[in-house]
Amino acid sequence: MVAIAVEEPGRLKLHAAEAVAPDSGEVLVRVHKAGICGSDVHILHGSNPFARYPRIIGHEVSGRIESVGANVTGLEPGDRVVVDPVVSCGHCYACRIGRQNVCANLEVLGVHRDGGFRTYLPVSAANVVKVPATLPLAIAALAEPFSIAANVLTRTECSADDVILIYGAGNIGLTVLQVAKLMGARCIIADTDPARVAGAAKFGADLTVLATPDAVRGAVESENDGLGPTLVIDAAGAPELLREAVSLVSPAGRVGLLGFSGEPSELVQQDVVRKEISIHGSRLSRRLLPQVVGWLADGKLAPQSMITQTYKAEDAQAAFALLETDPSAAIKVQLDF
Ligand code: MN
Ligand code: ZN
Repeated sequence: MVAIAVEEPGRLKLHAAEAVAPDSGEVLVRVHKAGICGSDVHILHGSNPFARYPRIIGHEVSGRIESVGANVTGLEPGDRVVVDPVVSCGHCYACRIGRQNVCANLEVLGVHRDGGFRTYLPVSAANVVKVPATLPLAIAALAEPFSIAANVLTRTECSADDVILIYGAGNIGLTVLQVAKLMGARCIIADTDPARVAGAAKFGADLTVLATPDAVRGAVESENDGLGPTLVIDAAGAPELLREAVSLVSPAGRVGLLGFSGEPSELVQQDVVRKEISIHGSRLSRRLLPQVVGWLADGKLAPQSMITQTYKAEDAQAAFALLETDPSAAIKVQLDF
């Protein structure tokens, strides 16, 4: 029984962990699998602006309910679940219009409060989503990363009419690719890493591009009757790509941003207005885990090959070391609790 904490930037520490009694509105989750996210690495590096230390990290969690609090209904010990890491206040403007993921009082498990890299996770009953018995818990633990893709493609109203250009063929780019394919879009994906470009082809990309600015433009300008992609998603988190995205996108097109850089982007007003481009930020997900669990359970995504390495939770140091030294060898690294 273990809990994995970042004591202070740069210092990961394993603690012994015990089961606790859940509060009246909580359940206690016996964690089974948890994925390591880029944001966990950022907290370890001290480059996440919201993290406070010490912090038990982790927010991509599946497991079984161990016990339930006195006021919990509809959930019972033994239920197989995934955890939605978004904790929202329910009364601010964003919450009132159904956008809890940008709650003014937002707290994210593993970031603002202790998260799921621990054997026993007490969490509000409102934050667990049941998963069917047919869905392996390792696959279920991918529901949160897929929910990021579901959120940006919901925000940008992706459909079968779209030709989508995805910047970045890392973990997030590959989830966006799979969900966009599910929605019927034609998918072009670009990355500067040849290994990632080759990998993206196996996840169903219609066209892959080894990214240089000229290569991306050359690859997409004939699309959509020569008007360019109808939707561009930045899953690389590179602020300098916004200007190019707005330049390449079709009239009446949309651009979705997933990065969290503090650096400014250049934007040409004329491009945005002339083509009436919509630019959407997308953060976390707005209660989309149930939908994603449904897709996973129905076999509509290809998640198995997303999981490239699994480490025992006790070997978390080695898992994080791999992400430091050889990040392109990993799509999703999971910890086994
Ligand atoms: Mn994540
Ligand atoms: Zn709120």
